[in-house]
Amino acid sequence: MEVRNTVVIGSGCAGLTAAIYAARANLKPLILEGHEPGGQLSLTTLVENFPGWPEGIQGPELIDNMRKQAVKFGGEIMTGLVTEADLSTRPFTLKIGDRVIKTLTLIIASGASARWLNLPSEQALIGHGVSSCATCDGFFFMGKEITVIGGGDSAMEEALFLTRFGTKVTIIHRRDQFRASKIMLDRARNHPKIEFLVNKVVEEVHDVDKKEVTGLTLRDIINGEKQFFKTDAMFLGIGHIPNTKPFIGQIDTDDEGYVKTRDYVFTGVPGVFACGDVQDRRYRQAISAAGTGCMAAMEAERFLEEHGH
Ligand code: NAP
Repeated sequence: MEVRNTVVIGSGCAGLTAAIYAARANLKPLILEGHEPGGQLSLTTLVENFPGWPEGIQGPELIDNMRKQAVKFGGEIMTGLVTEADLSTRPFTLKIGDRVIKTLTLIIASGASARWLNLPSEQALIGHGVSSCATCDGFFFMGKEITVIGGGDSAMEEALFLTRFGTKVTIIHRRDQFRASKIMLDRARNHPKIEFLVNKVVEEVHDVDKKEVTGLTLRDIINGEKQFFKTDAMFLGIGHIPNTKPFIGQIDTDDEGYVKTRDYVFTGVPGVFACGDVQDRRYRQAISAAGTGCMAAMEAERFLEEHGH
């Protein structure tokens, strides 16, 4: 079986940057693209804080450029989810469905996926008025009343984007303090279509029987009072969970499953590096993901050299 120099798991900003560097080092990296190709940038709209784009750039365009750049220098992209990994011996073994791939070095850049409230009614209505992706599903709610859950930048960004479609967008947050940056929060607060409901948690999404969202049962966390809140759609903007399932128990992860790294990208297993949102719960920016992607590829190259490959 062919043994690859470097496999990069993930095709978001971290993975593709790692792939660009690894490809330019002539490692011919294999990039494994999972069920969210392009990662979170492919689900976002205007990116205004990536250096070099003073007018901003659309997330999907930015990621598409990175993909082209990785392929141009010899990166190979393959679609498939890693279901199992054996990192106990080198070369490492990855199972992607029925396929088995061996690699001398591994760069884990599998990112993080949207977090859900995990209410049975919410799960039953995904695709029927419940969504975690405003850019994907916002259009379906033209002329409707839309709700966004969360108090971070994602929630603000989703709410602002959804004002293009909804007659009213309500941001519901479980506290009255926000994690969102001041600029994003101010934009949302100053938008005439956006309203805020704070100190409320969603207890149920209606109406599972009708297979559409008609409203939410909200509980006030201060006085415990419950209310029915009429809405036509619920978008989640409550953060993400790291995609580390195949590696749990083989590399160090924290209590939420994020890969623990030292010196930015070292996982503790020689030859296995991690970069981007899968190991970063602090910054979680496209530019910091790109930065650690670069570092992971440079360390993989160094590791191969030190081991005589
Ligand atoms: P985040 O900052 O972790 O915020 C998540 C929000 O969801 C918090 O307000 C949290 O409430 C709430 N939440 C979490 N679990 C919940 C639950 N079970 N029920 C109800 N509410 C819940 O996540 P994020 O907004 O996705 O942002 C992640 C990172 O990406 C940040 O660094 C952010 O700056 C960055 N980002 C930047 C941009 C931009 O610059 N345009 C856009 C998107 C994201 P609590 O506050 O009570 O914990």
